[in-house]
Amino acid sequence: CGIIGYVGAAGTDVTSILLDGLRRLEYRGYDSTGIAVLTASGEVQVCRRAGKLANLAAAVENGARPAPGSLGIGHTRWATHGRPSDTNAHPHADCDGLITVVHNGIIENYAELRQRLEQEGHSFRSETDTEVLAHLVERAYRGEAQGDLLEAVRLALQHVRGSYAIAVLCREQPQLLVGARYNGPFLVVGLGEREHFLASDIAAFLKYTRRVVIIDEGELVALRPEGLTIQRLDGTFVERAPTTVEWDA
Ligand code: GLU
Repeated sequence: CGIIGYVGAAGTDVTSILLDGLRRLEYRGYDSTGIAVLTASGEVQVCRRAGKLANLAAAVENGARPAPGSLGIGHTRWATHGRPSDTNAHPHADCDGLITVVHNGIIENYAELRQRLEQEGHSFRSETDTEVLAHLVERAYRGEAQGDLLEAVRLALQHVRGSYAIAVLCREQPQLLVGARYNGPFLVVGLGEREHFLASDIAAFLKYTRRVVIIDEGELVALRPEGLTIQRLDGTFVERAPTTVEWDA
């Protein structure tokens, strides 16, 4: 039900930024929470829990805290496919953890996509509709998109029917966070000094920056510490100037 993402300098305490963002998204309602951080050693460390954000915060304090890194994504889930549980909580990854995804919304054709991916040898670990996204992006990244994450997400989304706001990270790309939006959920970028945020609500990052770019329906965004690229699902590029938010959270 809520998304937060961060990309910036290596060695950042990404976990605190993500937990703080999730706290500001709590008002939307949720049944589970989770975070993933790409650490300085190139490992994606995930922590996710059913129940309140306090459960995740407690797990983080008691040994499951991801190491510092440059990139991370977080999620509050309102379950639509698969009961609220630790394994159905987002983030979700493909079989070998190359691609990690958080998602708000519903993938309507997930059952047929999952069946096709299983026939190709992908194995699934959750009951969610969301998990197909991680496998589809991984397949496109290793195949047609040839290591271009933005293109891999764009190609993967051509197969998907439904509604979504997503944030995607790849273990091989410590300086790149990709987001996309279609058919409903809000998604907004926050621009900092050599760091960027992605969220379902400006309030999630307002304490770090007031400069924002709203991602429109049917658009993807590639965020790097030094800037952003917006592209439509059909592949055309979009230019959009940031605006400054005057209100307080
Ligand atoms: N459909 C997804 C799930 O059930 C995402 C739900 C949400 O928007 O939080 O996991």
